[in-house]
Amino acid sequence: ASKNPNESEFIQAVTEVSENILPFIEENPRYKKFKILERITEPERVIQFRVTWVDDKGEIQINKGYRVQMNSAIGPYKGGLRFHPTVNLSILKFLAFEQVFKNSLTTLPMGGGKGGSDFDPKGKSDMEIMRFCQAFMTELSKHIGADTDVPAGDIGVGGREIGYLFGQYKKLKNEFTGVLTGKGLEFGGSLIRPEATGYGLLYFVECMLNENADTLADKVITISGSGNVAQYAAEKAVELGGKVVTLSDSSGFIYDEKGFTSEKLKTIFKIKNENYERISKYLEYHPEAEYYPNEKPWNIACDIALPCATQNELNLEDAIILHSNGCKLIAEGANMPTTPDAVHYFIANDILYGPGKATNAGGVATSGLEMSQNSIRQNWSRNKVDSYLKEIMIKIHEQCKTYGTEPYQKNINYYKGANIAGFVKVADAMLAQGV
Ligand code: NDP
Repeated sequence: ASKNPNESEFIQAVTEVSENILPFIEENPRYKKFKILERITEPERVIQFRVTWVDDKGEIQINKGYRVQMNSAIGPYKGGLRFHPTVNLSILKFLAFEQVFKNSLTTLPMGGGKGGSDFDPKGKSDMEIMRFCQAFMTELSKHIGADTDVPAGDIGVGGREIGYLFGQYKKLKNEFTGVLTGKGLEFGGSLIRPEATGYGLLYFVECMLNENADTLADKVITISGSGNVAQYAAEKAVELGGKVVTLSDSSGFIYDEKGFTSEKLKTIFKIKNENYERISKYLEYHPEAEYYPNEKPWNIACDIALPCATQNELNLEDAIILHSNGCKLIAEGANMPTTPDAVHYFIANDILYGPGKATNAGGVATSGLEMSQNSIRQNWSRNKVDSYLKEIMIKIHEQCKTYGTEPYQKNINYYKGANIAGFVKVADAMLAQGV
């Protein structure tokens, strides 16, 4: 903590991983001798830059831009870009750190990174978004490349933004490469990439349930967020027989007691993806639903809770309410949405807990598949990518099981399993490559 003052989110992420890794390192002294933990917590490179752009009124605007290149032991840096007013170095370092372990778990050759800006896309015109993306890429392009660092989307960066970023990169470099993932299908994007994080989350949840001879059928599910991850988590959950009753945004949550049908989800996709409106708009189409402004959905009774919005959105108080309402399984679509005290509470109370670095790894895994398709200049079918995704999520589950099965414990400790499994591959590569 003294090395990284004022970086609370980064310290939180490192503390969580260390809890599981430190005892493992004690049992495996070579990691200690070569100071792997000390090295893995220090980014290989941090780039910070000025982004200057002109808004629709002709005013000059200045934002901060960042790229954290955390670890390249097992492949080029890989991780999303976040555009949100809360973005700072602590948040990007925590995300980049988590990404290293997550990418290792996917079994694909990808290192870890993360970047973004404190730019707020809300209320900006399409042309403002484009000018900002061009200005941001003008600097970022000097530091990335298909074999160096391959960014993707995250909060506030979806298909539209990736398109503008890719267009600018191509202009500056005069080359068409797979330097970004999450691209449009017309220019090198992969089928299933938009769906991958949400679908992968549900494939992982299926594995967790199957392990306990259970299935998703008729399970009541609460989901937070209504962005990329939340939307496709809801779609897949409904397809697999679950009943999704909530979605949210930073203004509040909607509760539809009867559950969202695929028709109802189409309305939500339109509200969020085409009109860029608030989730409360749903009530104009379905007045029987309820809207709770400025609240989170965790006080609604459910069997399964899937936090899919942002970090630290589910705290101990929420965990206690979820438990008392009979919730049996938490799986994270977002990165680090559960506070450490809530994580410990779930594990202590035999509630199945799937940490984001394992459960939401489907997005980056499919980005890895997009990179492979770009390298061989092919486009794979929807079915092919989806079956690879499913296979990868099953492999991640197996790795968690290998390192997270404990004597006398009823449940797999996914928290421990994901951290150790993710660590081993990166640590061994670092050892092999020397200091
Ligand atoms: P989006 O921008 O598409 O959606 C984010 C959603 O979360 C929106 O509904 C947004 O509401 C809500 N949200 C954001 N910040 C807050 C906040 N401070 N409080 C309450 N709600 C908030 O992002 P994604 O769906 O892509 O990302 C969601 C989470 O999943 C993030 O933690 C991200 O890091 C993680 N993730 C994403 C992956 C991907 O492939 N996209 C891969 C793996 C993890 P509003 O519109 O009001 O801001």
